[in-house]
Amino acid sequence: MASSVVTPTFTSNIHTKKDLGLTVFSSGSTLSTQRCQKTVRKRICCSVTAPQQSERKPSTTGSVKSAMTMTEKILARASEKTQLTPGDNVWVNVDVLMTHDVCGPGSFGIFKREFGENAKVWDREKIVIIPDHYIFTNDERANRNVDILRDLCQEQNIKYFYDIKDLSNFKANPDYKGVCHVALAQEGHCRPGEVLLGTDSHTCTAGAFGQFATGIGITDSGFVLGTGKLLLKVPTTLRFVMDGEMPHYLLAKDLILQIIGEITMAGATYKSMEFVGTTIESLNMEERMTLCNMVIEAGGKNGVIPADSTTYKYLEDKTSVPYEPVYSDDNARFLCEYRFDVSKLEPVVAKPHSPDNRALARECKDVKIDRVYIGSCTGGKTQDFMAAAKVFLASGIRVKVPTFLVPATQKVWMDIYSLPVPGSGGKTCSQIFEEAGCDTPASPTCGACLGGPKDTYARLNEPQVCVSTTNRNFPGRMGHKEGQIYLASPYTAAASALTGYVTDPREFLQ
Ligand code: SF4
Repeated sequence: MASSVVTPTFTSNIHTKKDLGLTVFSSGSTLSTQRCQKTVRKRICCSVTAPQQSERKPSTTGSVKSAMTMTEKILARASEKTQLTPGDNVWVNVDVLMTHDVCGPGSFGIFKREFGENAKVWDREKIVIIPDHYIFTNDERANRNVDILRDLCQEQNIKYFYDIKDLSNFKANPDYKGVCHVALAQEGHCRPGEVLLGTDSHTCTAGAFGQFATGIGITDSGFVLGTGKLLLKVPTTLRFVMDGEMPHYLLAKDLILQIIGEITMAGATYKSMEFVGTTIESLNMEERMTLCNMVIEAGGKNGVIPADSTTYKYLEDKTSVPYEPVYSDDNARFLCEYRFDVSKLEPVVAKPHSPDNRALARECKDVKIDRVYIGSCTGGKTQDFMAAAKVFLASGIRVKVPTFLVPATQKVWMDIYSLPVPGSGGKTCSQIFEEAGCDTPASPTCGACLGGPKDTYARLNEPQVCVSTTNRNFPGRMGHKEGQIYLASPYTAAASALTGYVTDPREFLQ
């Protein structure tokens, strides 16, 4: 049993004894996971069947307003309303629409079918097109998708198209970025208070910037291309309060796997997941992105973190577009609140074949592995490689299984080869990886995170066991349908590469 310390409560401002007559959970008590899950489900059910009007108070405009969460406020502003309630359906003005090589051609196909062959997109500067999924492959259909996108972007004069023409050498393509969710952040498209929609379920990653960001299908995307609007239902919000000092052997990946293990893969279905607390405030932007990235694995509509000085610093040299952050009101309505004492958590993994199949890494020592994969929008950022390098450096030994490294973007690739790893005497990640016997860092792309064509680098073509920093471990996700994927943090992945079995990184990080 994982040693989580979590206290789910109804937040007092929604469901206090005074408001609803419900008993509030005692804060500070330690509950086992199983007991906790059962109780949470029961309570959520109560709240759904007995919706409660929050206390109303006068607004500064003279109308009557209720307190709102961050997500409600962003959607209210985007729909030009002063007040929204969960469950409302509203037409939202979209600030950024992102699509990629897999869904881009289909999105434009719908757009042309519905708006006409000669129609123009609603705003050429608000559309971001990022080839990233099936790039370094000889698969003709995959390559054709990028060609189609190139033609469409030229026809529509799309401002932000991160093209790749020379597949033999990604560095010969200065516009090419790599994995869309990391590229969006690095290129300044993630801005607090805005609405970002993308034809990819992990678009939720951008919630790390205090943005409402969610994945949509190609039909919706085609409609947005033509109108800049989408009808959205306002989600209720779950709040995750994460306090305590982060132990030096944990990363944000451990936190989100902990949460998903707690609430299950359906625990946040069509809900907003808001992350607050002293631990969250201490995380850098890439770690916050990891946390928000996987809310979709709990069914979440979006994840969101309040913007703060860390956010503003990150954005300083990335965008000149003015933005206006919003924050949840003190007495905003949350469906449920979960409290974690992060200082008591341990490294965890998600065992095959579900991201909520949580286990302590130290309890999986009997799992012999065939390979390790470090990459993707979840675990292929600069800080993820820095973390892996730290473990290799601390160990002073070489990996025992093939260890594949796939940087998310061209910038991450450059960081691997140029930034010194703290405490290494000036060595770069690439040097440390080479000394540890890892494969040479590959071209930036989604790579084997979702399998891809047969010739995709590091694809799981055999029924092997892989420890991976990616986000999904369903059968077939990385290639072979009998492959077994253990989702883990970069610390745990690197430690496992060194031993050949699932390994708690504390074996190397003293
Ligand atoms: S890295 Fe994986 S999860 Fe992320 S966008 Fe690409 S395929 Fe999807």
